[in-house]
Amino acid sequence: MFELTEAQQGVRSSVGRFARRELRWLAGKLDAAPPGSLDADLLALCCDVGMLSAQLPADYGGTMDGLSAAVAAEELACWDAGTAALLMANGQAQAAVSLSGNRYLMDLLFPEIVAAETARQPLLCALALSERHMGSDLQHPDAPATGRMMVTAKRRGDGYALSGRKAYCAAGNAARWIAVFATLSEDRSPEGLTGFLIPTDAPGFHVSEVLPIMGLRACPLVEFYVENVRVPREHLLTAEGGGADLVHKLIARGRAQAAAVAVGIARGAYELAHRHAVGRVQGGGPILGHQMVQGALADMAMRIEAARLLTHKAALCDPPQLALSSMAKVFASEVAVQAAGDAVQLLGAYGTTRKSGAEKIYRDAKMTQILAGTNDICRLAVTAPLRQ
Ligand SMILES: Cc1cc2nc3c(=O)[nH]c(=O)nc-3n(C[C@H](O)[C@H](O)[C@H](O)COP(=O)(O)OP(=O)(O)OC[C@H]3O[C@@H](n4cnc5c(N)ncnc54)[C@H](O)[C@@H]3O)c2cc1C
Repeated sequence: MFELTEAQQGVRSSVGRFARRELRWLAGKLDAAPPGSLDADLLALCCDVGMLSAQLPADYGGTMDGLSAAVAAEELACWDAGTAALLMANGQAQAAVSLSGNRYLMDLLFPEIVAAETARQPLLCALALSERHMGSDLQHPDAPATGRMMVTAKRRGDGYALSGRKAYCAAGNAARWIAVFATLSEDRSPEGLTGFLIPTDAPGFHVSEVLPIMGLRACPLVEFYVENVRVPREHLLTAEGGGADLVHKLIARGRAQAAAVAVGIARGAYELAHRHAVGRVQGGGPILGHQMVQGALADMAMRIEAARLLTHKAALCDPPQLALSSMAKVFASEVAVQAAGDAVQLLGAYGTTRKSGAEKIYRDAKMTQILAGTNDICRLAVTAPLRQ
């Protein structure tokens, strides 16, 4: 439990080297790019190190188990959390297909992803669960949500036709395939929740808005709508009306990965603050010499270590455990926000400037309290077993 395996340590050093070499210099550029931008050169480099296929099942060429993926996410997020979030969104959509158990779709999609990666033509996937009027209601641990879903599926011949609008879909403007959850219920109730895999070049698929976001800017967040998009029966990710179980598994998996992104953000904040404390001279010497500065750094280090342990425990679980991964996500994201705030503080006025990188970390950290289910909803998942 306390030691990574040799393979997991290998992931830490190779992804860490990659992130330090490439993301360290690119993070500011990625943050300042117009909403919706993706850096083609960076994605090609991600292909070179196998980051786009790493989370596939091993028999399709995947190289990372859940804990390795968390270790990789921390390493990436330490230098640019948006890139880590982008790869997390891609991994979540791939997991929707592998957890569906649909061999036809796995055989269709996964070799295509590997071939595209080899050709340095990244093939991204996205997961579309949230809607404008159904955010927490779809993440809530107990309630079959009472709202009305906007994306509906109707049976048409030997397949389905999907119509409606999805919101907050990470990488939805860049994905080649999207795992979309829609309802088959006449009254639009989420009880009819069903998963489908759709190609984004299908007639009737439109990205309607790329959202300007405060942080994690390397990971575009978009709204899209589907207008009578035809989906063959073979592209079902779940039984009709049987989507809740897959959604539950994806939420549990996603929270452990989101926790790892938050640990990486916190570590990035700590390392930045530490470097600054060594170099900044006030009061006759480096500010690291002041006990209160040491105390702040010590508190950051302790919280990060605790967040990492909880995150690794959650990421180790196969299948992922909702209560544990929710604990990890809440704890790590709160550690990230606190560490980012402390970093801004320790950098003084310089920390409030764009140049320092600290204020970007602060904006990135805040996002982790909302993505993969808000921390309020995650807390409800922690106490769900107590309510049964
Ligand atoms: C960076 C980022 C990436 C994302 N990526 C994706 C993605 O790829 N795919 C996808 O489908 N979605 C994605 N999301 C959406 C995300 O899952 C939702 O934002 C999240 O579930 C919250 O939903 P909401 O934003 O509609 O907030 P709301 O549900 O409107 O919540 C608003 C506030 O009310 C509180 N609240 C709501 N209901 C309750 C309740 N029952 N009890 C207590 N408090 C409650 C919430 O905690 C929150 O503080 C992403 C979001 C972010 C920020």
